[in-house]
Amino acid sequence: MADIRIENLRKQFGGFVAVEDSNFTIHDGEFLALLGPSGCGKTTTLRMIAGLELPTSGKIYLDGEDVTFNRASARDIAFVFQLFALYPHMNVRKNIGFPLLSQGMSKAEIRKRVEETARLLQIDHILNRSVSGLAGGDRQRVALGRAIVRRPKCFLMDEPLGTLDAEFREVMVHELRELHNRIHATTVYVTHDQHEAMAMADKIAVMNHGVIEQFGTPQEIYSKPATMYVADFIGSPPMNFMRFTSGLQSGARSVSLDGVDVSIPEVHQDLAEAELALGVRPEHIRFSDSSPLRGAVYGSEYLGTNQVVAIETSSGVIKARVPANRNFRIGETVGLEFNPAKLALFDCKSGRAVA
Ligand code: ATP
Repeated sequence: MADIRIENLRKQFGGFVAVEDSNFTIHDGEFLALLGPSGCGKTTTLRMIAGLELPTSGKIYLDGEDVTFNRASARDIAFVFQLFALYPHMNVRKNIGFPLLSQGMSKAEIRKRVEETARLLQIDHILNRSVSGLAGGDRQRVALGRAIVRRPKCFLMDEPLGTLDAEFREVMVHELRELHNRIHATTVYVTHDQHEAMAMADKIAVMNHGVIEQFGTPQEIYSKPATMYVADFIGSPPMNFMRFTSGLQSGARSVSLDGVDVSIPEVHQDLAEAELALGVRPEHIRFSDSSPLRGAVYGSEYLGTNQVVAIETSSGVIKARVPANRNFRIGETVGLEFNPAKLALFDCKSGRAVA
């Protein structure tokens, strides 16, 4: 297994910058998700790590060795596209063992490796079955088996669950994470789905227009978003923003919203003239009759264990996730309270967190 380090990695297609000077390190055995919307440069980053695309500049290190100009085949990496791609005329055993044939391995060794892999994936009972008759989950496991049987240094996966329906996807997310816990293979996983990234990854790189906006654990990215973009991309519903023009000096511990003082984390810089946004996650809002910060209920969405209530305030519509045991009337006035320890503050111009 291996560490992967990228240093100032950049890719230009003609005049278009697909990946802007990117830097990160994935430690041996870690699972990294490259997360962002379509076209943000995830696949290009992955293809450069795989050796399928040459960087315009920057370096790629595998286990400390500079592999930037090594061919893909010399990198000992398994690249997994959609997991369904199997050879329909071969049985499960042959599908899994296929990558080993070209390595000149003995038949006995191939047999041993295929059986070990099948046991790991709990598909050893179907080794002699034809893949064409297999159910979706088993097909996915066979395809995974084919990727892991070579025991590569790391796995690169590009939206491997992309074509699956929602229910099955959830099952496979769980299985992929379980498999990772068992084999601890360094993995880079491309997805545009925040739930997949949050559920599986040890680290997430959130990308936007070729730039890594934040690199961190799922918890860091969710609770301390570095930018408004990250705060908005992660979480459903996403973080609420209440914009205001600042009169804030260094040391300030509250802001005035609609003439109401709201406590915030301490500010460590002068932000006197800046346009700022106070960020609050829906689950950090409470309804309190005594709060002077008021709004009118605009709609609600019942979700079983809780509900999301939209409230029209003079700072815009805010969504709160609250217990489901109370019914709200449209137009009803409610008081809002925020958990000050959980608030974020952003500079609207740069989009960056300032507190
Ligand atoms: P998706 O999920 O849609 O694949 P992505 O985040 O993986 O999105 P990339 O495939 O890395 O994005 O593409 C990033 C940008 O680079 C896109 O605007 C894409 O059109 C462009 N791009 C990718 N490959 C090439 C290429 N070979 N030539 C020109 N432009 C390219």
